[in-house]
Amino acid sequence: MKRYSVFAVAREALRYHTGWGRAWRAPEPKKKYDVVIVGAGGHGLATAYYLGKNYGITNVAVIEKGWLGGGNTGRNTTIIRSNYLQDPSAAIYEKARSLYEDLSQDLNYNIMFSPRGVMMLAQTQHEIRGYQRTAHANALQGVTTEYISPARVKQLVPIINLDGPRYPVLGALWQARGGTARHDAVAWGYARACSDMGMHIIQQCEVTGVRSDNGRVTGVDTTKGAIDCDKLGMVVAGHSGILADMAGFRLPIESVALQALVSEPIKPCMDVVVMANTVHGYMSQSDKGEMVIGGGADGYNNYTQRGSFHHIEETVRALVETFPMVSRLKMLRQWGGIVDMTGDRSPILSKTPLEGAFINAGWGTGGFKSIPGSGWGFAELMATGESALTQAFSLDRFAEGRFIDESVAAGVAH
Ligand SMILES: Cc1cc2nc3c(=O)[nH]c(=O)nc-3n(C[C@H](O)[C@H](O)[C@H](O)COP(=O)(O)OP(=O)(O)OC[C@H]3O[C@@H](n4cnc5c(N)ncnc54)[C@H](O)[C@@H]3O)c2cc1C
Repeated sequence: MKRYSVFAVAREALRYHTGWGRAWRAPEPKKKYDVVIVGAGGHGLATAYYLGKNYGITNVAVIEKGWLGGGNTGRNTTIIRSNYLQDPSAAIYEKARSLYEDLSQDLNYNIMFSPRGVMMLAQTQHEIRGYQRTAHANALQGVTTEYISPARVKQLVPIINLDGPRYPVLGALWQARGGTARHDAVAWGYARACSDMGMHIIQQCEVTGVRSDNGRVTGVDTTKGAIDCDKLGMVVAGHSGILADMAGFRLPIESVALQALVSEPIKPCMDVVVMANTVHGYMSQSDKGEMVIGGGADGYNNYTQRGSFHHIEETVRALVETFPMVSRLKMLRQWGGIVDMTGDRSPILSKTPLEGAFINAGWGTGGFKSIPGSGWGFAELMATGESALTQAFSLDRFAEGRFIDESVAAGVAH
């Protein structure tokens, strides 16, 4: 792999950029791999990357039915934070956030991590108490957050209206090292590094069946033929239930469409991420100047990847109270992704009833932020059979009633 550096850019500038190679190869599938990962989203690619980097396992194929990063990884609003309530969540999200800090250097690919700060507004008495509780829990977990006053909110976000007609801003939970990253670049950076280690990323190849013998996985059927493997990682977000069905087990997961939209680009006006969970909307400004706005999830299960007018109306109506300037913005485009929701709003990283098959799913509306931590822990689980980072998120928690309730931390779609 040709390293990206200031010298490489200068060299290529002198020869009209004719020397750049492809970022990743497009190989035909082999008959057999040590590990097959289904799904080339951020979580699948990060898993492959840490299998190679941390455990030297490089005979790996990542199989993707569309194009890599074309699922939720390329459709989200890129918020990164680790201010969750429960200890296992704080551990995995903070691991991810800390890996994001120098992921560009690690991958030699600019993922544009921008730790600009994330603020979750408290607009009811209930939220004040909830966020103060989270700030105390975070202090014990070693996650740096603080509960801030309305005056500090105004200082950080001058365009905010503190005196909303329905819900005034009463304070906020603030994580100064939270922020955003460029979602495509996260997928592309991992893909390039995986390809460089000799792994195969096979796009436009759908897994249509899971093959097994005597309760142990042996491979997958795909639209490019059968592929054998010793271990299988299923990392397909909104399609988790479908893959689990192929592998012969059921998941406590529902798939729903989640939407987002962006405005026309405007001059820089807000350099933090603001989430308003009570009125249900959140907003940040992209490097291009667009206001990136997150909406809600559909109220019914479905597998669509589209936007809808009533979501735009509801989301913008909610945001206008807190940001009156939004009323003068033209909206540029909207879209949807299929997210997989568990009952306790926490993910599943687990062995499955099929020996040798593992599942990474249930990140719901908030799994972009966790990509590096999830890949790190899931790779450890797949390589060694256990991981302290993923242990609490195993499937048997639903049978044993060990829920990891994050319904408040995951409150608004993000
Ligand atoms: C609108 C929206 C906003 C969001 N905002 C945020 C946010 O601000 N912050 C945050 O942390 N999270 C956010 N999320 C959630 C986040 O995007 C997801 O949790 C995360 O991207 C999931 O990554 P993944 O790799 O598991 O899934 P995906 O990126 O969806 O990848 C799964 C891949 O599996 C492939 N696949 C499925 N079935 C098969 C098959 N049979 N064969 C082969 N391939 C298959 C799919 O094509 C897909 O590419 C948002 C999501 C949406 C939709």
